[in-house]
Amino acid sequence: MFTLAGVDKRYGPTVALDGVDLHIAAGHRTALIGPSGAGKSTVLRMLIGLEWPDRGEVRFDGERLRREALLEQRRRIGYVIQEGGLFPHLSAGDNAALLARTLGWSRERIQARLQELAALCQLPVDALRRFPSELSGGQRQRVGLVRALMLDPPVLLLDEPLGALDPVIRHELQAQMRTLFERLGKTVVMVTHDVAEAAYLADTLVLLREGRVVQQGTARRLNDSPAEPFVHEFLHAQRNLEDCL
Ligand code: ADP
Repeated sequence: MFTLAGVDKRYGPTVALDGVDLHIAAGHRTALIGPSGAGKSTVLRMLIGLEWPDRGEVRFDGERLRREALLEQRRRIGYVIQEGGLFPHLSAGDNAALLARTLGWSRERIQARLQELAALCQLPVDALRRFPSELSGGQRQRVGLVRALMLDPPVLLLDEPLGALDPVIRHELQAQMRTLFERLGKTVVMVTHDVAEAAYLADTLVLLREGRVVQQGTARRLNDSPAEPFVHEFLHAQRNLEDCL
């Protein structure tokens, strides 16, 4: 679905990506993991043309990502950022409907799709009439999901979608997202620095460090056959409550 070939990206003196070769298969759920600053968000942003490689190329569905074709390509990709990335002056429903409106969907079609997606994402329908500041963090995140799914894109990209939520809501949304992803069967690429969340939601992990791919594979494979000691270190860097009691 996505291929990065020999991709370099610098911001001034900072090397964000350093010769990244990566294939993300269609129909899979892939999590980009790694320490802060490893290049996870840069990879994700490149998949949707918010960043461009200095060298190398990004292909989507076999086609090179090109600035001229970007709008058409973006319609096939839903993008969710932390806290939903909603416009504060628009109601949740208007936020979600924005793209459909610019494409000329009728009011009825938009309403029907909003109702359907609110049910799917377990968002109370009256929440659609509220402004983002009148919603909880979890609800804003659900609105972000509704917006990303509005045009029924084959691909969903999520950048730390649950990062800003408290542990209880996060736990609940993780379970709902997993069910949702399984039901929809879309290609999903997400960024998280939470290893357990990645292993729970994704079937493939890509571990990045200092702008390079260290290892790609199932959580089981990274755990049982780490490509280098760092893989084991990173996978086991989070403290367990049991170890502290
Ligand atoms: P991650 O998502 O893994 O935390 P990022 O992809 O956000 O990492 O960033 C990779 C590196 O590139 C970091 O060192 C970050 O500071 C730098 N970087 C990312 N975006 C920018 C930007 N717009 N301007 C300058 N530096 C950036």
